[in-house]
Amino acid sequence: PLGLRFRDVGFAYDGREPVLASWFAEIAPGEHVGLAGPSGAGKSTAVALAARLWDPASGAVELVGGDGDAVALSELDDTDLRGAVALVDQDATLFHGTVRENLLRGTGTRPDADLAAVLERVGADGWIGLDDGLGESGVRLSGGQRARLCLARALVRSPRVLLVDEVTASLDPATERAISDVIAGFDGTVLIASHRAETLARCDRVIRIEGPGERGGQA
Ligand code: ADP
Ligand code: ADP
Repeated sequence: PLGLRFRDVGFAYDGREPVLASWFAEIAPGEHVGLAGPSGAGKSTAVALAARLWDPASGAVELVGGDGDAVALSELDDTDLRGAVALVDQDATLFHGTVRENLLRGTGTRPDADLAAVLERVGADGWIGLDDGLGESGVRLSGGQRARLCLARALVRSPRVLLVDEVTASLDPATERAISDVIAGFDGTVLIASHRAETLARCDRVIRIEGPGERGGQA
């Protein structure tokens, strides 16, 4: 597996105060790390930077191999990036189109058997098929169903690093447990932003993020 390193990362949203300033944090290959801290501290932002939704203003977010070799996310092409990191945003953004199209968004092709296996892994088989349409085509999903599908979409890529933003999630207990179990069983590196004690307790280690001005994010 690959580790993840935030090396002196600085970031601000357009025209706003910095969210992160010279922030350092390192997640070892295969380690499952929780990112904790007060609301507004920058947990979601850090996870988004690791998914390369944005680039840092300074410093770098790097993938680190077992041999210590590091490569900045900003140097990867789209294909390599998508095989390396995958984000589960529990606000669960799905697109119109079929389940298959949602699962393969930006991923290339996969055999249907692989897609079906992933749906089963997240407990989304049984109530939805690969050819079912989402959104305007009529299938209405609950928040919990969308969350399972978004997890499935991330897993389809077989990422080296699974990124989870559960900060705003409010799911039914069965879904929460199921998703938590799949993440805990993920055979790779995990970074999960959370304010939930149950989630953080299942991680190997917790890094606290306090917001801008803080130096060194390691717990
Ligand atoms: P946390 O996940 O720890 O609650 P966030 O990363 O969501 O923190 O937010 C950190 C800061 O950045 C907060 O002050 C928040 O209001 C601000 N912020 C978050 N997202 C955006 C955005 N898209 N545009 C502008 N400011 C944002
Ligand atoms: P819940 O019903 O679990 O509380 P929400 O309140 O978030 O979920 O959503 C309300 C309804 O809107 C849900 O029944 C859901 O089917 C539908 N919905 C919202 N966004 C989407 C989407 N991206 N794809 C499919 N259905 C959606």
